[in-house]
Amino acid sequence: MLPVIALVGRPNVGKSTLYNRLTRTRDAIVADFAGLTRDRHYGTGKVGPVPYLVVDTGGFEPVRPEGIVKHMASQAELAIEEADAVIFVTDARTGLAPQDHRIAQTLRESGRRVYLAVNKAEGLPASAAAEFYELGIGEPYLISAAHGQGIGSLMDDVLARFAPQPGQEPESAGQPGPQDGPRRVRVAIAGRPNVGKSTLVNALLGEERVVAYDMPGTTRDAIDVDFDYDGRAYTLVDTAGLRKKGRVFEAIEKFSVVKTLQAIADSNVVVLVIDAQAGVAEHDAHIAAYALESGRALVVAINKWDGLDRYQREQLDLQLELKLKFLHWARFVHISALKRNGLNHLMQAVHEAWEASQAKLSTPKLTRSLIEAVARQQPPRAGRVRPKMRYAHQGGSNPPVIVIHGNSLQAVGDSYRRYLESWFRDQFGLAGTPLRIEFRVNR
Ligand code: GDP
Ligand code: GDP
Repeated sequence: MLPVIALVGRPNVGKSTLYNRLTRTRDAIVADFAGLTRDRHYGTGKVGPVPYLVVDTGGFEPVRPEGIVKHMASQAELAIEEADAVIFVTDARTGLAPQDHRIAQTLRESGRRVYLAVNKAEGLPASAAAEFYELGIGEPYLISAAHGQGIGSLMDDVLARFAPQPGQEPESAGQPGPQDGPRRVRVAIAGRPNVGKSTLVNALLGEERVVAYDMPGTTRDAIDVDFDYDGRAYTLVDTAGLRKKGRVFEAIEKFSVVKTLQAIADSNVVVLVIDAQAGVAEHDAHIAAYALESGRALVVAINKWDGLDRYQREQLDLQLELKLKFLHWARFVHISALKRNGLNHLMQAVHEAWEASQAKLSTPKLTRSLIEAVARQQPPRAGRVRPKMRYAHQGGSNPPVIVIHGNSLQAVGDSYRRYLESWFRDQFGLAGTPLRIEFRVNR
């Protein structure tokens, strides 16, 4: 599971600058859950060998009144509660502020592992850190988020505990090596509170044999459940917002973006559950967008389909088409978790999405298909050049990457790229998985 790092500090100390630096790495995926959490940001990144999920908690203020502000404060608190490490950001230019002391106290009480970063320290002597010892957080790290100084050694320490042990390489979800045999498909059930996730999980687990419950004691540990469906082997990835109670799962009160993103990162196929009776919310689209950016195969389960009349069903389908247009490649399955309708279809779609994400496409097949695509529709000229496509090969799987080689390919526009994408999808039956097309210019 991705370690979670929360950035905490009063406004203007440089949290978002640091956040940007930590997430602007090669494989970074940034998710802005604006509607839900105002100005909070979530992103993945990699500085050094360990990938992580970083959360900018916004202007954290422990003492707050009621209302929306209270909601924000509790979101920040939730992020701290769920974090594996907290980076407490302070400002070397303004020095210690009374608010820093209050935040320090809250953090000490949280019992989290806290690292004290003294930001804006470019050009300052080491003695600039002296006054920050007063916070009782430990050794301050002098950094400059803006200039990228001191970040490496801070992150080395923050992530030291998560470095893979030699000989104990963790199984990385979604990146099976070619030598991997058949294995359990990791499924994450994601969605807002109340859409029916726990009902669905219980319906799936209740129908078929649960192979093993693996239930470590603490909430920080993942709850993965192995189960078979239709003779196929799955693992239900620790599903955000659910807790096991006796034989069944139930929803917990607090919705956690962090847990949702972790579960997606840790899965092979995401089932995004949408409440047909409540309609498509902005938040549904955020989860879907994150899954897409992560390259995860995805199935949309439109739950509570039972309570809708014909007109409502048509309205919902229109809404889905409009708001989740960027998921045109995914299967949308209508289900009723409560009545246990459509579960077979759902799991069939999960299986197909997984298969598609694993597709193996040979170079001759891809190249023939590419040549046919171009024969049907030439890439448009850009000025005086016309891009020339020569051959294609598969550059990766889960999600499949198709690399196209040729000349002047930098001139290929977005709409032609989309044409090729849907062409290859049709040709090779790649429903349910994101598909990446890359162009490589031959010299
Ligand atoms: P936040 O409110 O904590 O998220 O702070 P921001 O990241 O928005 O930064 C507040 C201000 O501090 C901006 O004007 C940044 O350009 C500036 N800043 C951030 N990091 C540094 C730094 O390392 N050095 C200096 N000199 N300024 C910085
Ligand atoms: P979660 O918060 O996403 O885990 O949602 P729950 O599984 O707790 O379901 C929230 C509510 O929706 C409960 O009252 C369920 O009984 C109800 N519900 C779940 N699935 C369905 C369904 O397919 N149809 C209808 N009508 N209600 C459902």
